[in-house]
Amino acid sequence: MGRTYRADAIVLRSMRFAEADRVLHLYTAERGRVNAIAKGSRRPKSRFGGRLEPFFRLDLMLHEGRSDLCTVTGAATVDGYPCLRSDGVAIGAAARGCDAVLRLFDSAEPNRPAYNLLCRYLALLDRRAGEDALAGPGPNGHAVGLAFRLKLALAAGFSPELGACARCGEREGIVAFSGAAGGVVCGSCEAGGFPISAEAHRFMLAAIGGPIAELPAVPEAALRQVERAIGDTLAHHAHVNLRAVA
Ligand SMILES: [Zn+2]
Repeated sequence: MGRTYRADAIVLRSMRFAEADRVLHLYTAERGRVNAIAKGSRRPKSRFGGRLEPFFRLDLMLHEGRSDLCTVTGAATVDGYPCLRSDGVAIGAAARGCDAVLRLFDSAEPNRPAYNLLCRYLALLDRRAGEDALAGPGPNGHAVGLAFRLKLALAAGFSPELGACARCGEREGIVAFSGAAGGVVCGSCEAGGFPISAEAHRFMLAAIGGPIAELPAVPEAALRQVERAIGDTLAHHAHVNLRAVA
């Protein structure tokens, strides 16, 4: 009965279940969102060890039976992100990132860009936690978290229009952002939007177009505008409400 397959997976959530089991919410490269049960994994001598925790990247063997839950039959660690795991700020950022993936990607459709982005984000949080850089100079944790969400929105097909007014196509005189229109808007079309600064617009263009680790330094007020722009876009078009980034 059923079949066994291999999956490259990130543990988004890990919940205690029954006497000694865990239920895992996974994001996999091959099959998108998968839920699985790891039987006996909370016993002291479990062969799974401590690797079925949130944010672990695993090479899993999953058995598909009749139930909606796959059964984990093997698990090897690809990356445990140990520095991230020992830093409270990074753990919070990783948890909110995984939560955004849970809300935006709920189907069994694979989405490689989203999977690769999540792996890169966790690796970046791990590296920066190791360097104690999340609170230091360069893009702060808020900026990095926003860039991750913008790229995640792009991978999900809900990227805001940033190149020209989302209502009339005008490229000059961008002054506001409208979640309903799905992007930036010009002075003639700003009704229903909220004002954004040139810095917030520049930040979004850089975040969509470049690596997460290389972002222009912009004031916190601009980052708050970016967060509202992403939130409004996803609420209007994906019907998803994300938790606050920081
Ligand atoms: Zn316009």
